[in-house]
Amino acid sequence: MVDIRNVEKRFGSNHVLRNVSLTVRQGEVVVIAGRSGSGKSTLLRCIDHLETIEGGTIHACGELMGYRQDVLGKKTELSDRRVARQRRNMGMVFQSVNLFPHLNVLRNITLGPVKIMGEDPAKAETHARDLLQRVGLPEKADAYPSQLSGGQQQRVAIARALAMRPQVMLFDEPTSALDPEMISEVLDVMIDLSRQGMTMIVVTHEMGFARAAADRVLMMADGVIVEEAPPEDFFTNPQSEHTRLFLSKIL
Ligand code: ATP
Ligand code: MG
Repeated sequence: MVDIRNVEKRFGSNHVLRNVSLTVRQGEVVVIAGRSGSGKSTLLRCIDHLETIEGGTIHACGELMGYRQDVLGKKTELSDRRVARQRRNMGMVFQSVNLFPHLNVLRNITLGPVKIMGEDPAKAETHARDLLQRVGLPEKADAYPSQLSGGQQQRVAIARALAMRPQVMLFDEPTSALDPEMISEVLDVMIDLSRQGMTMIVVTHEMGFARAAADRVLMMADGVIVEEAPPEDFFTNPQSEHTRLFLSKIL
């Protein structure tokens, strides 16, 4: 579903991703941990082609991100419009919730499907109400973002991403800006999503989520994936010094 091979990314002299390879199969949930600056967000942004890479390849949902590849393997850079289309296969949820403040919850969710995908408004609304049910907020359809708690806003953001019917969901620390009492309501929605078979790549330090939902947990350090293991091994038998240090700090 997502195939990352030998990816290199630099910001000036800062070598942020070093020969990163990762394959995520359909229905798999991969959690990425690692300390600040290790390259986690950059990796997610590269997958979504919000950043361009200097080396390697990223395939998502069968397509080479950012390029068209002919039968001989020759790469041609895609137009912004085509990249936007590739990006639609992936839903992204960020740390800071960025709902449109002037639109109610329902409109926030239906805007993309109607304006970008040309979905019938009535159909989009039915889908949006289903999604609100799924994230536990069926009664908030008419509310405005400012009338919701942080956790509720983040759940709407997840519903909004799902409204585009993505094949993969990318989460970048979706709960780290939330008050502690709101974290579990968002994680529960994500766990539910994983049980329904969604392919997910999740940057988080919520190791409870990793235990509950992850097929694999990855540790990043200085732009390198230094460990990759099923949660049971990651927590009980970490191989990398980075992982041991990380776990000693957060558990
Ligand atoms: P955090 O846990 O704090 O979110 P992270 O693991 O997500 O950290 P990244 O945001 O991927 O780390 O950053 C990796 C490195 O790349 C850092 O050294 C950061 O300063 C640098 N970096 C990230 N984005 C940019 C950018 N747009 N321009 C220049 N440098 C950047
Ligand atoms: Mg980050």
